[in-house]
Amino acid sequence: MKIALVGIGKIALDQHVPALAASPDWDLTATVSRSGQVPGVLAFHDIDTMLAAHPEICAISLCLPPVPRFAAAVAVLRAGRHLMLEKPPGATLSEVHVLRDMAAAQGLTIFATWHSRMAQGVAAARDWLAGRTIREGRITWREDIRKWHPGQDWILDAGGMGVFDPGINALSILTAILPEPVHLQGADLDVPANRQAPIAARLQLSQGITADLDFRQQGPQTWDIRIVTDDGTLVLRNGGNILQIDDRPVTGGDSIMQEYPALYDRMARLVRQGASDVDLAPMVLVADAFTSGRRHAVDPFEF
Ligand code: NAP
Repeated sequence: MKIALVGIGKIALDQHVPALAASPDWDLTATVSRSGQVPGVLAFHDIDTMLAAHPEICAISLCLPPVPRFAAAVAVLRAGRHLMLEKPPGATLSEVHVLRDMAAAQGLTIFATWHSRMAQGVAAARDWLAGRTIREGRITWREDIRKWHPGQDWILDAGGMGVFDPGINALSILTAILPEPVHLQGADLDVPANRQAPIAARLQLSQGITADLDFRQQGPQTWDIRIVTDDGTLVLRNGGNILQIDDRPVTGGDSIMQEYPALYDRMARLVRQGASDVDLAPMVLVADAFTSGRRHAVDPFEF
């Protein structure tokens, strides 16, 4: 099946292009970008031109930041093509509802991806937690914004979600592995005086779970989830890729390189089955944190 990538930035080049090159299902036929391109692949500056010129491209994968993504997504669905969305699937919940309904009305596949759910330890963590009672939990997601998002001003602007851009990955894992639904009980958001989105956040969730999200981490980086149950303690490290139970390694390793191939494999199966996958549970928790959280002004931030 022929596919096009839109928004040739960091994640498109780091993950989407290699995953598509190795995929038995997909042929990367075109890109749309104001400046970037992929060697050997047709390059367009404008999505409508690409869609009109290549009716044989049946699916479009959008790697844009969330705010400019909606207009591109509507163009894709209006052109009758299947749609794959980077996380978070939109800047607002209501725009994702619109996209989901548009796709359903036209019989098109829409896949709102959560790459961290494809991390090596996540399925085993979900299976181990099934039937156990959660006593408490702790998410620690601390990374250096300057290292992982150099110059990405959009991330700290309105709609960029700030520290929830990585933090939503932790919430995507949490909402996939817990046996019972979790909800937000409180949040504290640290917003730099010169920005619109939080650079750090602390969440209180139901089931005794807390989250410490921080974009200002220097030195060792941490992407861990620890869940204490009535029958042992589970720890997911390295963004869900290493699973430990009661301090013993169970599965996984350091590599994250299987996550995007797994997403494109799932997209291929969804298209062939005429199905869609839009789970907004992680984004609901983030929206609730913005709605109900206490804002604290902190020092201005520059990259
Ligand atoms: P990025 O490097 O800033 O790239 C996004 C690309 O989108 C840009 O290169 C730009 O390409 C295009 N674009 C179009 N309109 C834009 C606008 N108004 N503002 C900024 N860029 C615009 O961002 P990214 O890190 O790839 O992230 C994109 C999405 O992937 C985000 O939703 C993010 O959460 C997700 N993601 C990122 C990572 C990561 O490690 N960076 C990991 C997983 C998921 P052109 O100028 O070429 O058009």
